Amino acid sequence: MDAKEILKVYFGYDSFRDGQEIIINAILESRDVLAIMPTGAGKSICYQVPALMLSGITIVISPLISLMQDQVKALNEAGINAAYINSSLNDLQISKALRLASEGVYKIIYVAPERLESMEFTEFASRTDISMVTVDEAHCISQWGQDFRQSYLKIVDFVKSLSKRPIISAFTATATEEVKNDIACILNLKNPSVVVTGFDRKNLYYRVESVKRKDDFVVEYIEKHPQDSGIIYCATRKNVDSLHELLFKRGVAVTKYHAGIDNETRKKNQNDFIYDKTPVIVATNAFGMGIDKSNVRYVIHYNMPQSMENYYQEAGRAGRDGEPSQCILLFSAQDVMINKFLLERKDFTDIPFEDIELIQQRDAKRLQIMERYCRTTNCLRNYILNYFGETTTGNCDNCGNCHSEYTEVDMTYEAKWVINCVAETKGRYGQAIVLGTLLGANRARLKEIGTVNYKSYGMLKDRSEAQLRMLISQMILDGYLYQTEGQYSVLRMGDISPLRDDNTHVIIKMHKEKETAGKQVLSQKKSTDSLTSAGYELFEKLRKLRLEIAREEAMPPYIIFSDKTLIDMCVKTPQNKSEMLNVSGVGVAKYDKYGQRFLDEIKEYQENNPNAVISIYEEEDQGSIVSKPKKRKRGKAEFYINEEDSEKFQYKDLYYISEIKDELNRITTADDVKKLSATKILDYLLSQGLVEERNIDGKFIRVQTDKGLQKGITTIEKVSKAGNPYTLLMYPPEVQKEIVNYFIR
Ligand code: ADP
Repeated sequence: MDAKEILKVYFGYDSFRDGQEIIINAILESRDVLAIMPTGAGKSICYQVPALMLSGITIVISPLISLMQDQVKALNEAGINAAYINSSLNDLQISKALRLASEGVYKIIYVAPERLESMEFTEFASRTDISMVTVDEAHCISQWGQDFRQSYLKIVDFVKSLSKRPIISAFTATATEEVKNDIACILNLKNPSVVVTGFDRKNLYYRVESVKRKDDFVVEYIEKHPQDSGIIYCATRKNVDSLHELLFKRGVAVTKYHAGIDNETRKKNQNDFIYDKTPVIVATNAFGMGIDKSNVRYVIHYNMPQSMENYYQEAGRAGRDGEPSQCILLFSAQDVMINKFLLERKDFTDIPFEDIELIQQRDAKRLQIMERYCRTTNCLRNYILNYFGETTTGNCDNCGNCHSEYTEVDMTYEAKWVINCVAETKGRYGQAIVLGTLLGANRARLKEIGTVNYKSYGMLKDRSEAQLRMLISQMILDGYLYQTEGQYSVLRMGDISPLRDDNTHVIIKMHKEKETAGKQVLSQKKSTDSLTSAGYELFEKLRKLRLEIAREEAMPPYIIFSDKTLIDMCVKTPQNKSEMLNVSGVGVAKYDKYGQRFLDEIKEYQENNPNAVISIYEEEDQGSIVSKPKKRKRGKAEFYINEEDSEKFQYKDLYYISEIKDELNRITTADDVKKLSATKILDYLLSQGLVEERNIDGKFIRVQTDKGLQKGITTIEKVSKAGNPYTLLMYPPEVQKEIVNYFIR
């Protein structure tokens, strides 16, 4: 089998994603590889596919036991024999695994780096054909990274100890130059193929919300997304406990995680989350390492994190399956204080005195950059990407700021007073003093240090503090001001020469309206967008079946099938094995294990709901609910009726769209035309402005317009068998007639 066939047969995917093929080809040409790809980009497949094609074994070095176990489970599910060797196994189990590996049972073995030193393992390695050593989370080898692990340095000696040098492939999502160079150098990569696919996670929608009542926001958001799995990060354990209690009382299936909870309970809570027993988790940043859950639809930060590095990593746990997901940061000025307080209490035992100051400076600087992210009105995605060293062109049109309406306010006059004030402080004071002075605050501290005698004192007293804060942030971004690093940062003058030109203006963008938790995100297309309410009903059924199987198999549901795969099943509604294998993410082994049960579920649903339109795509030649846009038959003429046929249409008080479709298909005498689909009728209704489609809260919903309402289009509420309410549009004779006329030729 070639690489593409392996991708299809084992993993069920039709094509490679960005970067994957280049990496696989390089490995197959025996070249070392250094791949930098963001979370969710699909790194595993880059080494798993060639591992199956190389003659010997591939050893994957991975830092976390839970990650290894997940990966091995997923491979076994895909029909690939793989094993892991780590401290969760006893000596007997390890010996057995190594014996089986020697016998050629496994193509891929995951090991913890510590294992590379064990006699038994090195002895095994020396007598085995090892084709490739893959270093997962390769940034752990760099002291520059946040997750440096001493044990990763042992990889080098291990590779040297082998009789034949294997191919070395290294993977990470950390993109900084230092880390990249460290990996290549320390691992001693030979003329590696370096593949960097870009840091951007296009499916993540970033939002910053300055809300007063964070609890209300979180409750509202979760209640509006009841089907979704999400993580809510809080800065402190106390926050976690109280928010968890609140949500629990509101009936949310929620669990919690922080370092104050005993080990056993923590593990149970984590598993409840992974297994979708409790799809929502409230946690401190102690939670998340090694969590591979692919269907996390949102990550809400209840408090501002301490750095962009932390934020990107934590928020990045959303949407690993590539589906649109939200990363929402709830900001309040108090968060800055909380974080300063937490940083002040940081434990510096065992750290040399001279390093402490450096670390404190670095921490304070990171906090400033984080705060600016929360306050910027510019594109949030660009802010993140620029921070991590990527250049960007234009705004992303896919983040909260790009979708907010702003009014632009010219604050050049105010900016000049800020400059005057900073000049008067001679760079001795920070933002709080400058703001207080400009606002003319009556504070003892200002009197004490004498800023009440400045010319600038009270000069901007009728402006709001929030507005001036934004102005100062903008002036820092523009380079007019400069904020020093360190715990007690002060404001200094930057390059103010452009301000001497009368044509230079300092423009501040202010929010026009406040956004709410339920705000729609219109530009992101989800796979579920193509599902109708009936489609959702089927999707829910398939999810239930998946959960049932997951419990039987003691396996996280997303390892059985991802949400994306279930959605594709709804869209394609496969009827047999070959159609099921056409669904993205269904490989041969998974089909053999679970395929029939999913086919049965789909069939049962269709039999119980013969008129249900599941997806907005429909197969035209069948006029059925089966959706396979790629398989449309060609050659037949478009559907039509003639005048005579139209007489036979049986008008009724109210029809829903599929009934009109069936009635038209019944009366036509036209030969060899495609069967009429409901979509065609819908297209007509849309074009006439009688109906419109709205993406409400991520769901695809059709509603009548005012014009449609006037013509008597009504709705009826129905409840699905699963107990979910849905709305059906009903069309009166006047509209039925219009539709009939439209198809007359
Ligand atoms: P990473 O390790 O880079 O975070 P993963 O290897 O966990 O990412 O892959 C993320 C998700 O993308 C997984 O669900 C995986 O099955 C899926 N995936 C990977 N490659 C492809 C592909 N070529 N087509 C479709 N899905 C893919």
